[in-house]
Amino acid sequence: MPLVIKDEYPEKLFREDGKRLDGRDKTELRPIKMEVGVINNADGSAYLEWGNNKVFAAVYGPREVHPHHLAKPDRGILRVFYRMTTFSVFERKRPAPGRREKEISMVIGDCLEPVLFLELYPGTSFEVFIEVIDADGGTRCASTTVAALALADAGIPMKSLVTSLAVGKIDGELVIDLSGIEDKAGEADLPCAITWYNDELSLLQFDGDMTLEEMNTSMDSAVEALKEIYEKQLTALKSKYIAIQEETLKQQESKTDGGEE
Ligand code: ADP
Repeated sequence: MPLVIKDEYPEKLFREDGKRLDGRDKTELRPIKMEVGVINNADGSAYLEWGNNKVFAAVYGPREVHPHHLAKPDRGILRVFYRMTTFSVFERKRPAPGRREKEISMVIGDCLEPVLFLELYPGTSFEVFIEVIDADGGTRCASTTVAALALADAGIPMKSLVTSLAVGKIDGELVIDLSGIEDKAGEADLPCAITWYNDELSLLQFDGDMTLEEMNTSMDSAVEALKEIYEKQLTALKSKYIAIQEETLKQQESKTDGGEE
């Protein structure tokens, strides 16, 4: 069964004024908001709003592996569980994890693994739980981006953060950060992720039609946009520590004031 009936797609993905249906320019990202340390019971966590996508990530580890037979004697393992809630899409999604969720979990794991020092944690596991609360295109990229933040928030040693984004082609034009409708009705979708410690891609998927030249141009725009998202990740991480610092200073000040009286 198709996810969206083809007849429901808009005829054009650009408006008369040359903007995309949501009012963006071709190289404009959807609005992005991120926050770390949002779940008390996790070792690390993060929340991301990216356009209409809303995603939580929670991290546990290093901890004992369950089931035990998955443990590796010479290294730790990374386990990623990407899930979309039943209410995350227009039609009720089946609650049981489907093939798509399993595949995306694996893809996100492959994106994140290069930045971890798994060889330093034999016999243990790092677990990343991702819940997509609202989905509107590019959820694997949003999930990778927020999962990297949650890993960092857990204080897990990392070579760098990972940032992910989808670029593509709609109505014959190259664009960045495809929305749900652009993803479905457009000609090409190219999700990618970058590991910043070596500036290499840890994800490059491709679905649709594009020339090699278009692909090169798309990758150039992707790198520019990825840098913009990376800055937001850094700001989100720093904000938590600035808030803690301010709180500590306040407490010290009130203690000093109390002592002087
Ligand atoms: P991504 O979210 O990474 O772009 P897909 O290309 O598979 O992954 O999905 C594109 C969009 O299609 C999703 O973001 C979501 O909005 C929608 N979608 C995915 N799975 C379903 C589903 N089971 N039912 C309805 N919509 C879905």
